[in-house]
Formats: sequence, structure tokens, C-alpha cells
Amino acid sequence: MGDWSLWKLRPPALVYVLAVQSVALIVVTLVIATTSPPSMGALRLFAMIAITAGVVIVATSLSIHLRKEIRRNPWTLHIAYLAAGILTLPPNMLVLLLLGPALHGVLDNRPELYRWMFTTAATTLAVFAARWVIGWQHPSWNPVLLVLSATVLLLARAFVIAVGLRLRSPDASRRGVLGEPIDVLLGIVAASLGGLLAMAVDAYPASALLAVPPLALLDLAGQLPQWRRSAQRDGKTGLANAMHWERRARAELVRVGNRGHPAAVLLLDLDHFKRVNDEIGHLAGDAVLAAVALMLRGSVRKEDVVGRFGGEEFVVLLPGADTEVARAVAQRVRAATASLSVPAQDVHGRPCELDDVTVSIGVATSVRFGYELPDLLVAADAALLAAKSGGRNAVTMA
Ligand code: GH3
Ligand code: MG
Ligand code: MG
Repeated sequence: MGDWSLWKLRPPALVYVLAVQSVALIVVTLVIATTSPPSMGALRLFAMIAITAGVVIVATSLSIHLRKEIRRNPWTLHIAYLAAGILTLPPNMLVLLLLGPALHGVLDNRPELYRWMFTTAATTLAVFAARWVIGWQHPSWNPVLLVLSATVLLLARAFVIAVGLRLRSPDASRRGVLGEPIDVLLGIVAASLGGLLAMAVDAYPASALLAVPPLALLDLAGQLPQWRRSAQRDGKTGLANAMHWERRARAELVRVGNRGHPAAVLLLDLDHFKRVNDEIGHLAGDAVLAAVALMLRGSVRKEDVVGRFGGEEFVVLLPGADTEVARAVAQRVRAATASLSVPAQDVHGRPCELDDVTVSIGVATSVRFGYELPDLLVAADAALLAAKSGGRNAVTMA
């Protein structure tokens, strides 16, 4: 049944996760106890929404299985049919609909089952809050209330989950906790599609099946954030990959060039990196790459564009930096690299500290080489070669 690593959580996160799950359980119990048995009409609506969602879940699961793909995040799909249920079903039938995501987590044999259960509990609370907004017994389809209810569904859910993620890892990035703008857009599309499904099923129950193709597409679109990340980011360091960096750097150069501001490119290459791989191991090498990437991001401003250029080569575009600023930043990065102490494991699995990492840096500025990226890179590369042949652990200005 997977690893219940719930007990390895930090105490505040553990207390919070258990509290959210207990409150969700109490709410569900109260809902079941206080709602009268459903009418035939409500049962028919429930059946149509559940069948529609079930067809999509089975079809997408099958296609993932056949194509040997990694299971994607199915929450966008769950949000869509839950939104339809909020608008059409009595509260106790909504509880039944929530078994969809709950069972999905159990049947999928998730490695962090507690996390799935926590997300399901957060979703349960958000679903009933959204229902309460439009009216508990007889939901109103007043357009203002519909928008308010969808907002409560998405925001309440995101808030409860974000607090959990923050308590679990206080150092997590804002994006890691709140998601990316595309996650927000997917949530809005899911809630809207749920609204349309509710209206269709209410007018003519069998028409719910028309929602199967758009729901399947929505489920596929749930992958978009991951696809985008893997197309733009380098997996080992989390930095922009070479292609994404180039695209961003070109755009930045046009922007600063139009304003007549300077810019600079730093090309970095770790010194004798092959030795780390050969003498300590490739995993230690990877740990160094990750540590250098983290240090780089922490050493420059938010608007500077940092990327992994190739194996152990990094690149930074500094918009607005003149020659002196660029030199100072490069020297700061060089010094920060030299003072790194990277915890790693050697080939025998023994822990070790790598504290002799150094970097050579070539710097080219728009003041001398203009705003064309290839010209700046060629100049920075020549300066990097000079820094290497001058003895390494050095900064050379082109
Ligand atoms: P120099 O000071 O002249 O730059 O010496 P160097 O050893 O760093 O130069 P070289 O270009 O010969 O070696 C770069 C090494 O980087 C070779 C390659 O095995 C290693 N490398 C490239 N990508 C990765 C990676 O993703 N992980 C690890 N561990 N090593 C990598
Ligand atoms: Mg190299
Ligand atoms: Mg090197």
C-alpha cells in the first residue's frame, strides 16, 4: 500500500495534515447525517456525472498504460466533475462523488498515499465551502454566485494545500507551493467545464456524455505544467536549459538595447571537473553541479538570466550591467564557488565534502561587442579560454 511516510513529516505539518483530514471527516459525517435520502432525479444526475467521469478516467488510464507513460496529475479532471456535482447534486451525493478522487489515490498505489489523502481532504472542504456559497439545499445558478462558488472552490483548495506544503518544507519556492500561472488557468477551465456539464446534465441527463472528449482533453492538458517545465528546465540543476536560456537572453538583449542600457554575458566553466567524476564519482559531480546552480541563482538579481549551457558550463545574462558591474558580479560568483563546500558521496557510498571547486569565467559586454547574442558568446568564450590558460579560478574580461 505504499510508504506511509506521513510519520516522517515535521511535527507542525503532521498536526496540520491530521487536522485537515479530521475536519474533512467530521464535515462528511455531518453531511451524511443531516441530508435526507436522494430522490430518483438526484440519483439519475449522479449516475450520469459519475459515468461521464468514469469513462474519462478509465479511458485515460488505459491509454497511459498502453503507451507506458508516467501517470499524470489527474486533479484537473477531478475538479471538473466535482464542480458539476456542486451545482446539481444534494450534499450526500457529493460525498459519493468525492469517492472518485479518494479511490483513484488508493487504486493507483501512490508512494505518498497520505499526500493524496490530504489533497482529497482539502478538496472535500473546498467542495462543501463552494456548495455553501450557492445554497446548501437548493443551489442557486445566479451567475454572480456561480463565479463566487468556483472562486471559493479553487482558492480554498489552493490555500489549504499551500499551507500544508509550506509547513512540510518551509524553504520551498513560491512556485512550488502556489503552482504556476498555468495551474491557475487549468483550474479555471476545469471549474468552467464543470459548470457547463452541470447545465447539460440538468437539461438532458444523457447529454453529459458529450463532456467526455473535452474532459479527456482537459486531463491531457493537466500535463502542460510538467511538459513546459521539462521543455525549459535542465533536470539536474533546475536552471533554464541552453535553448530556453538563449530565447530569454535574446529577448532581454533586444529590450535593454532598445532602451540604450548596457548588458553583459558571463560564461562559466568549472575547473578540472573531470577529476571530480574520475576520482570521486559522477554522483558527486552531479551534486557539485546542483550546488553551483543554487549558488549562482542566489548570487545574481531576479532579472538576471541564469542557464546551464552544457555539461559543466553555465551562462548568465546581466541586463543593465556595465563593464564594472559585470566584472564585480563575476568576481563575486568566482569567490562564492571557491568557498563552496558540497556534501556528496564517493563511489563507495561514503559521505565526503568537496571544498576545492573552482570556476573560470569569461565576460563580454554589450559596450564592446553589441547586443547580438552570438557575438557576445563568442567573445565570452574567448575570454573563458584565456582565463583557463591563465591558470583557472579566474575572471577574464573580453
Ligand atoms: P577544465 O578546467 O579545462 O575545464 O577541465 P575539465 O575537466 O572541467 O574539462 P572537460 O571539458 O575535459 O571536462 C568536463 C567534464 O564534465 C567531462 C564530463 O564528464 C563532465 N560532465 C558533463 N556533464 C556532466 C553531468 O551532467 N554530470 C557529471 N557528473 N559530469 C558531467
Ligand atoms: Mg567544459
Ligand atoms: Mg571544465
